[in-house]
Amino acid sequence: MGRTSKDKRDVYYRLAKENGWRARSAFKLLQLDEEFQLFQGVTRAVDLCAAPGSWSQVLSQKIGGQGSGHVVAVDLQAMAPLPGVLQIQGDITQLSTAKEIIQHFEGCPADLVVCDGAPDVTGLHDVDEYMQAQLLLAALNIATHVLKPGGCFVAKIFRGRDVTLIYSQLRVFFSSVVCAKPRSSRNSSIEAFAVCRGYDPPAGFLPDLTKPLLDHSYDPDFNQLDGPTRIIVPFVTCGDLSSYDSDRSYPLDLEDGSEYKYTPPTQPPISPPYQEACTLKKKGRLAKEIRPQDCPITTVDTMTQ
Ligand code: SAM
Repeated sequence: MGRTSKDKRDVYYRLAKENGWRARSAFKLLQLDEEFQLFQGVTRAVDLCAAPGSWSQVLSQKIGGQGSGHVVAVDLQAMAPLPGVLQIQGDITQLSTAKEIIQHFEGCPADLVVCDGAPDVTGLHDVDEYMQAQLLLAALNIATHVLKPGGCFVAKIFRGRDVTLIYSQLRVFFSSVVCAKPRSSRNSSIEAFAVCRGYDPPAGFLPDLTKPLLDHSYDPDFNQLDGPTRIIVPFVTCGDLSSYDSDRSYPLDLEDGSEYKYTPPTQPPISPPYQEACTLKKKGRLAKEIRPQDCPITTVDTMTQ
């Protein structure tokens, strides 16, 4: 794949680089904000699963907090520093990470918690959806500790089989839950975002990190809610619908007739897992898969034995 072919195939990838965002995901949060005015009155926010950091960039530019720490960003992976963003490297499903985040908000709760977390997809849809749900529920668990009443929680969801169970759990804590699909999120992807507004936990609810919200003895029949417990949330698409379609390829030359110029990524990944393979490949030391048809046929000289 050439350097420009991804630019051509994915217009939001190209626009992200041109506008200085670290990832195309920035447009998803911006389009969600266009629809829901997520940043209004927000001074403190948490960005869960934040690397490489485009949502943190958006948050630090758009919200009215002062000084370092008004945005707390958390990810498994290291992230290049961003002004005004306090970074925690850790796994949001781990108690120790959750405690570290919560500590930061003791006495001054957050107005907004966002989570764009995605597991490494396996291609096995049930497994991927389950992993995604676990990530969302870990994020919700953290949100119940740090959000102020009336606060907002936005999280990536996979609109799979068990999504109604997730909606029901979210509705326990928020007065409004909407499923939103930004224009920059590919139609071909089951990804969408649960936009939960008006944090209002049930009377007597005591957040408890040791009790995950999802039942770990996973039962697909149990997870299909029927009757009054089945909650159908509104679905909206957001972002200007006449703008770029994220599933289409666009010509590289711009509409105003000017010539395409390659823009390097705003922030190359820090020690990505594939780095070692790249170094070995450059040195010609990356092992190649040996297929049976590539093996030389060795004939044994029986006379000499
Ligand atoms: N919103 C980010 C941005 O705008 O740059 C992009 C997030 S990327 C789609 C998903 C991130 O989720 C990855 O960086 C991955 O490391 C992180 N992630 C996945 N599982 C996680 C976990 N258990 N704890 C913390 N981060 C996790």
